[in-house]
This record gives sequence, C-alpha cells and structure tokens, in this order.
Amino acid sequence: MAGTPVMDERGVIVACASCGQKNRVAFERLSDAVRCGQCKQAIEPPSAPVEIHSVADFDRLVAQASIPVVVDYWAPWCGPCRMVAPELQKVAARQKGRAIVVKVNTDELPDLGQRFNIRSIPTLAVFAGGKEVTRSAGARPADEIEALIAGAARAAAAHS
Ligand SMILES: [Zn+2]
Repeated sequence: MAGTPVMDERGVIVACASCGQKNRVAFERLSDAVRCGQCKQAIEPPSAPVEIHSVADFDRLVAQASIPVVVDYWAPWCGPCRMVAPELQKVAARQKGRAIVVKVNTDELPDLGQRFNIRSIPTLAVFAGGKEVTRSAGARPADEIEALIAGAARAAAAHS
C-alpha cells in the first residue's frame, strides 16, 4: 500500500512502492506504464480515491485524464456517503489504470455541486472525454459503480 495519492496541477502524486520516491503521473498518462524517476521500478497507477481540493484541479483532471473519472460528491455529515467510501476504495483498487476515483466534498467545493446541479449526496458521476457521461444518486455497491464506469466508457467510445 503506497498511501493515499494526492494531486497537484499536472497529475497525481504516487509514492514508489520500492524506494518511496514520489512520482507525478500526469493526468494524460494515467493509463500508461510509468517508471519511477529514481529506481526505474514500475509505478502503480493511483489505486485509492483522490481527494479534490480545488475547482481548478477538478477541471484540469476531467479535461486531461486519459481514463474515465469517477466523481463521488459527498460531505462529512452524510451517513450514506460513509457507506459508499469503502466501495469506492474497492473500485479504485480494482480499476487502477482503467479509471480514477476522486472525491468532491460539496461543503468544501460548493461551486462544483452547483455547477453540476447536485441535489442529493452521495451522487456518483462518471466523466469521460472531458464531459459527464452518466451519474447515479444514492449509495451503490462496488459492482454497480463498476457497471456505471463500463457504460460510460462505451458511451464515450461511441461518440469519439
Ligand atoms: Zn522508486
């Protein structure tokens, strides 16, 4: 376990499992095989949900990501959101390199909740090719979240 990945303006920072060196995996390279800049071992793509802390980071990730972005709109006071959290952990681990899971705290980033007209939480949305492709309100088990991602990936492929 390499710890919780964090994001900066160009990519996701992942610690190397071999030497601990922090490596940035650029948004547009999230599906690529990336090697550690220090020890040259393969870097695992982000395998845990990434917390979004700014609207600008969100916009860059969604615009540039080479794989579908699963967005969990949540808030700390929301009970059902806590039930979804471990399911999202599973999805992030199983779909690493194929999809990235991010969490948007709608109390911290109300602008995003407003822009996307999020009326209830948890709401899960899948972005592909820079656009929201699908969303689903309410808590969902990991299998159903993965089905949402698969559907979104197919829809994005059909439109490109
Ligand atoms: Zn390394």
